[in-house]
Amino acid sequence: MKDEACIFCKIANGEIPSKTLYEDEKYRVILDLGPAARGHALILPKDHYANLYELPDETCGEVMMLAKKMAVRMTEKLGCSGFNLVQNNGECAGQTVNHFHLHLIPRYEDDNQNI
Ligand code: 5GP
Ligand code: ZN
Repeated sequence: MKDEACIFCKIANGEIPSKTLYEDEKYRVILDLGPAARGHALILPKDHYANLYELPDETCGEVMMLAKKMAVRMTEKLGCSGFNLVQNNGECAGQTVNHFHLHLIPRYEDDNQNI
């Protein structure tokens, strides 16, 4: 289940190199090219689903379990204090890449001090 025109299909399946934090048979976790915070990561299924509507229930559950595993691991590595989990679903919600992905955005104690 790949879309030849989809850049995240190519990244998730290793055809385009990426900064990979985690990979298994079904998923790849990469660093976002335009991070909102240090360590901003994206969880990508290797199969192509355009958005949440298309995501099988099983994949939905696995993505959340992987998000939890990555959050624990990244908290230890980065010393962040929290996370925003974000999924922009649909163009009107800000989705720019039509291959389902979950943003994992680490948050730090001093995040809001420079606003
Ligand atoms: P969306 O707006 O669809 O929720 O998020 C797309 C995200 O993918 C953006 O945060 C953007 O910075 C990131 N992005 C777009 N193209 C690439 C790419 O080629 N490589 C990586 N690592 N991130 C990308
Ligand atoms: Zn795709």
